[in-house]
Amino acid sequence: MDADIVCVGFGPATAGFLTTLSKQLTNADGTPVVESAVMPGMPPQVLCYERADDIGFGVSGVVTKARALKASFPEIKTAGIPMAAPVGEEKVLYLLDPHGASRRSAALRLADSLIRATKFALPVENHALNLPWTPSFLHKHDGMILSMGQFMQWVGAQVQSTGTVQIWPGTPVGEALVEEKKVIGVRLLDQGVDKKGNPSDGFTPGMDIHAALTVIGDGPVGPIGRQLDEQFGLPDGKHIRDWAVGMKFVMDLPEDTTLKPGTVLHTFGYPEPEIFGFLYVHPDRVASLGIFVPSWFDSPARTAYRYLQHWMLHPYLWRYLKGGKLRSWGAKTLGESGKHGEPHLTGDGYARIGEGSGSTNVLTGSGVDEAWATGTQLAEAVLELLKAKKPFTKQNLDETYVKRRRASWVEAEGRVAEKSRDGFQKGVATGMIGMALAGLTNGKFSLGHAPVQPWKRIPTVEDYFAGKISREEIAKLREECKTKNVSLHGALMDKAGWPAIPFDGQLLMSHQDALLMGGKVQAPHGYADHVVFLHPELCEKCGARICIEACSGQAITPGETGVPAFDREKCVHCGACLWNCSQANPENPERMNIAFRAGTGGLHSAEN
Ligand SMILES: Cc1cc2nc3c(=O)[nH]c(=O)nc-3n(C[C@H](O)[C@H](O)[C@H](O)COP(=O)(O)OP(=O)(O)OC[C@H]3O[C@@H](n4cnc5c(N)ncnc54)[C@H](O)[C@@H]3O)c2cc1C
Ligand code: SF4
Ligand code: SF4
Repeated sequence: MDADIVCVGFGPATAGFLTTLSKQLTNADGTPVVESAVMPGMPPQVLCYERADDIGFGVSGVVTKARALKASFPEIKTAGIPMAAPVGEEKVLYLLDPHGASRRSAALRLADSLIRATKFALPVENHALNLPWTPSFLHKHDGMILSMGQFMQWVGAQVQSTGTVQIWPGTPVGEALVEEKKVIGVRLLDQGVDKKGNPSDGFTPGMDIHAALTVIGDGPVGPIGRQLDEQFGLPDGKHIRDWAVGMKFVMDLPEDTTLKPGTVLHTFGYPEPEIFGFLYVHPDRVASLGIFVPSWFDSPARTAYRYLQHWMLHPYLWRYLKGGKLRSWGAKTLGESGKHGEPHLTGDGYARIGEGSGSTNVLTGSGVDEAWATGTQLAEAVLELLKAKKPFTKQNLDETYVKRRRASWVEAEGRVAEKSRDGFQKGVATGMIGMALAGLTNGKFSLGHAPVQPWKRIPTVEDYFAGKISREEIAKLREECKTKNVSLHGALMDKAGWPAIPFDGQLLMSHQDALLMGGKVQAPHGYADHVVFLHPELCEKCGARICIEACSGQAITPGETGVPAFDREKCVHCGACLWNCSQANPENPERMNIAFRAGTGGLHSAEN
């Protein structure tokens, strides 16, 4: 099939692109501003393919300054977007460990003792220090709290009502079509195949869509962006090695809640010092809350779900959450490389936008506005080229899109942020100081060094728990978990002193119940497995099977053969397995022994 423009993924980046483009393809009388090359007399044919089963089935916070969103929708604050609220009170809290189970460095333990000893003079309550001052770059004054799912559905309806753009959810793009270094379109995923991708009942090969321009906005773990990175390489000095998995609940707060809509809480320090948390309050007693577990947290058992529950049970937060009820749940990878990981933004026939193009600001924790802004910049560039009847060559895209991007606040602020998190390569305390230093000096100074590949940082379970759990005990736990075909992290956390989670069936529930009640995960029949263990022999002798421990949906289990097993029906498509593997891929040490390919299904909730 032929189109003029084909887009991969409908996240905020592509939404920004299509919002700007769709409004300017036709004149007031309905005639085309420019004509389609494939359908003469009509406006350009623009198609967008989204892998999730519906628009807005992704996961995100979101608190945002909404600068780019407001530029596209000046009326956004009063537009009646469900779950939207203006930002109100913002707090940053350092959470002390009430149980003594977390792993804290000597420096942090000393700081904790000092805080506890002087708490009469400090704003400390319920084991949390409310930072009396926070730098302005962390604030989202005059911004908005949104449900990304609700916002994306709202935008999707706006874009499609223009009649100039088609969005196809439930339609993953399998690969970019590349001919002599030029991207000429995309191929959709094959249907009617077995788990390995071999033709089976009702086989339908993925359709080829040829287009003059392919827009890639497939996010931080998108397979099409990665395909191009492998085929064209990354620019000199760039590397994509930093990620975090964000796991999130949307919940009804108790009826007598004192939290006001617009409240923004950010936390650090607990359940492990490396884990950051957020709580945003929507209207009608609904809250979004969750944690980020980063790739530089050197634990081979860094499970997000159990940690999320311990975080919610922290006395500072639990007094607000107790008696509340789960509405939805999910997880998604956040690309934390920022400008460190900026790929080639353009090439002949393609352009990259959004988080997969390195737009996320890792200092301010802001990705939506930046992704949206890069989408609008590309749309303006595309309109300029269409009107000038110029082809979508790398040179033309550089002179229009990249030029706009380089001149924008996304670029200026991205440069300030570029090295701001390098300190975390050396530990949490260095990381926090490094962030403050970079933020307060406009990026002139930073600490630490460029990130190393995550697989290089993962110790074995035995080494990580040395001094806390003996090798013999670990061997016994491993055997028990293997018999039950479950991951090891729960047993390890119990042994390391973490209290049991008091399940209440409302808010605190097993991981499996959260998958069913909160994620409502589904996997349509007839598609290949999108998670593949590339070199089974490496798995067989792997001493840190972090793919199993860190899987957000318990979709990866020990298996029977020494190679982990993957269950597509439980996969939430968070993409965390892409970077949670302890072995390098022998063909490419920048990658690991696990492939995360294009796939269907996942979460069924548009509240996240
Ligand atoms: C838990 C969490 C909390 C966050 N909180 C905040 C916050 O408070 N504020 C903020 O500003 N940012 C926040 N972010 C970051 C923000 O969500 C991202 O920066 C933003 O979503 C990036 O937008 P994007 O369009 O580039 O990519 P994405 O949002 O990742 O969208 C990419 C889309 O492409 C689709 N796709 C991928 N592969 C294919 C394929 N092969 N075929 C078709 N479609 C495909 C995906 O399904 C997805 O819909 C948070 C992220 C997480 C995970
Ligand atoms: S996928 Fe990676 S982490 Fe998992 S068992 Fe194989 S080598 Fe180990
Ligand atoms: S298998 Fe699915 S749920 Fe598990 S880490 Fe990978 S993408 Fe996430």
